[in-house]
Amino acid sequence: MKDLAMIPPGSTLGMLGGGQLGRMTALAAARLGYRTHVFTNEPDSPCAQVCAEATVADFTDQRALTAFAAAVDVVTLEWENVPPEALVVLAGQILVRPGAGVLAVTRDRILEKSFVNRLGIETTPWRRAGSAADVARATAELGRPAVLKAARLGYDGKGQVLLGEDSDPAAAWRQLAGDHGLDAVVEQFVDYACEISVIVARGPDGRRRGYPTVENQHEHHILARTIVPARISPALAARAEDIAAQITEALDVVGLLAVEMFVTRDGRVLVNELAPRPHNSGHWTLDACATSQFEQLVRAVCGLPLGPTDRACDAVMENLIGDQVGRWPELIAEPGARLHLYGKREVRPGRKLGHVTWLGRTE
Ligand code: AMP
Repeated sequence: MKDLAMIPPGSTLGMLGGGQLGRMTALAAARLGYRTHVFTNEPDSPCAQVCAEATVADFTDQRALTAFAAAVDVVTLEWENVPPEALVVLAGQILVRPGAGVLAVTRDRILEKSFVNRLGIETTPWRRAGSAADVARATAELGRPAVLKAARLGYDGKGQVLLGEDSDPAAAWRQLAGDHGLDAVVEQFVDYACEISVIVARGPDGRRRGYPTVENQHEHHILARTIVPARISPALAARAEDIAAQITEALDVVGLLAVEMFVTRDGRVLVNELAPRPHNSGHWTLDACATSQFEQLVRAVCGLPLGPTDRACDAVMENLIGDQVGRWPELIAEPGARLHLYGKREVRPGRKLGHVTWLGRTE
């Protein structure tokens, strides 16, 4: 395995996952003179459309993984649920950044929350659940409402069941797990003042740069809007940035770590979730920062100096979800709007098809 201090422009970046996060990373990599080779199981992926090379294969295809590893200089990812077995194959041949140790923690809500709590950082109060009886016990301890979440493979609210005042724990368990065994958590439902996130970049030498704290508004469990900066006190923003930096350091991340948090009405910051990759709440950095999160990822995994992360102006990012993408003719005509479309052919409800960043807006 090559372990060069710096992977220079002209090299090939391997990208696991073919969605819009990979696409925007590949575009940023191209700007710095890198080629990107994507490995994805999706034909005609948004990322492959802008890459020098694409491998379309299953993540269980060892021959395809081996050939991919031989063709690239470093591997990063835009999808944290890459099967661990695929990472083992790749890591035997090539640098994978962030590494398998980071992904093992962030792919599992139980390991992730335990890791964060061990650092002395608060998460939403939670209990582990592996049966209907566990769910009943956890809701009795934590109170209601609560949320039952699968430990693995959930995103955008998938794999979650709300436990309201009258809901039956056994029915909720059946809805989540069916007749199968499943690792899950029950979390207290937080009546938060707002949701925030912080994205931190870290290089192989441990140098670190964090983006400012932003505020996130979700609709139907999907991020609808990011407001930059978050409308919270400077002290709370600093606390959130400190939490994100501590977790990034403790996990020994090389690449990016996004930390999603809740701000409670009594002024506490609770960690909700970690993502070791570019994050939807960082899309505004493309238009309002000297270094976007995507360029920063390329810099971090290639061992280049990290770029400045200050915001040039206030901004609001709105996702274009499902048929909202039909607004593009109006948005592209707006001087203050920066439109990004992901090249996805099929419009489906809940699918992220693009985003728009409004420069200078505060809400
Ligand atoms: P997650 O998949 O855990 O990021 O959850 C997606 C979204 O659901 C979050 O961003 C919140 O808007 C909401 N949510 C998840 N867990 C909780 C909770 N414990 N309390 C309140 N809202 C939650």
